[in-house]
Amino acid sequence: MMNGLLKILRRLQSISSSLVATISGVPIYVSSGYRGPELNRAIGGSKRSQHMEGRALDLDCDVFGRISNSDLFDYIRENLEFDQMVWEFGTEDNPDWVHVSYVRDGHNRKRCLRACRDDNGKVYYEVMYKQL
Ligand SMILES: [Zn+2]
Repeated sequence: MMNGLLKILRRLQSISSSLVATISGVPIYVSSGYRGPELNRAIGGSKRSQHMEGRALDLDCDVFGRISNSDLFDYIRENLEFDQMVWEFGTEDNPDWVHVSYVRDGHNRKRCLRACRDDNGKVYYEVMYKQL
């Protein structure tokens, strides 16, 4: 149990410390990090959510207003290693938040998706950019 927890914390630390190191001075609100299966179910997260593996963070810069969520998205896409990033809802110009995952011990795909809702409120994902 302790070992698993430590592993997760280290993974999260590696994502957040690379963000902190490269976007220095810009405050980023982390709205979600590790989620256990129960919490993930309760909030309607994906069954294969990388949050449950401690490999994903949800980030929001609009909370502080120094840079926008779309600035953050572009910055990560252009400068950082990541596995998958999601433009979470919002508009064409700005997502409500940015989901980003990082695989410490494997291949990072640099896949960008946009989360949308259909007329029935069901969530679906569109590929946003070709792989870099
Ligand atoms: Zn997320």
